[in-house]
Amino acid sequence: MANETAAQQKAATIYKRLMDYYGQPTWRAHYEPLDELVLTILSQNTTDVNSEKAFRRLKVAFPSWQAVMEAPLSLLMETIRIAGLAYQKAPRIQAALHRIYDREGEFDLSFLADMSTEEAEAWLTAVHGIGQKTASIVLLFCFDKPTFPVDTHVLRISKRLGIVPGHANTLSTRKTWEALIPSAWYYPLHLNIIRHGRETCRARQPLCEQCPLLDVCPFGQARVEEIVPDTRYG
Ligand code: SF4
Repeated sequence: MANETAAQQKAATIYKRLMDYYGQPTWRAHYEPLDELVLTILSQNTTDVNSEKAFRRLKVAFPSWQAVMEAPLSLLMETIRIAGLAYQKAPRIQAALHRIYDREGEFDLSFLADMSTEEAEAWLTAVHGIGQKTASIVLLFCFDKPTFPVDTHVLRISKRLGIVPGHANTLSTRKTWEALIPSAWYYPLHLNIIRHGRETCRARQPLCEQCPLLDVCPFGQARVEEIVPDTRYG
């Protein structure tokens, strides 16, 4: 980019280093938008393995989204129990299905493609229990909308790297990244930061000494010098 700011240069360095270190990211197969939405709700506060197991059980137990929407709450909770927080996730899934069906008369999210990113996000987040991260993932993964999802890994690592201040929240972190990098980088950088968070920049005991970002990371440099405890921004 011409006339790059120091922050843009740093963001570009992070993007390129992670691409060199982890390569072009791969991810689980992407689903139809409504499947992705339900899977993302199931994935809140649990592992990919457990959320995908819950999703498969849901698909086996119910023949249609209509059946999921109309199922007794206790049955739906039992079906998705492995994903945890079933008492929250089951009503969220049913609320989302009701909202989609009430608008469309069918279970189809394709109308989001014709909305602006802001409109589509506003529509999704108006559903109880669908937060900005869930909406952002569905819009980026399924509709290729220019939005940068911020989950717990992205938030922690962005703070450690000094991309955002320690008091930043998911929305301000997302806006910061979106202002710093081209939208074509959102998808690969999001996935590579998550991988970095799982494999290297873990919440506890991050592996700073072997991290490809150490020279641009104030937290890592301070930690290597044993100035700050392991769990800060964890
Ligand atoms: S240097 Fe440490 S804290 Fe910084 S990004 Fe790497 S692993 Fe995370």
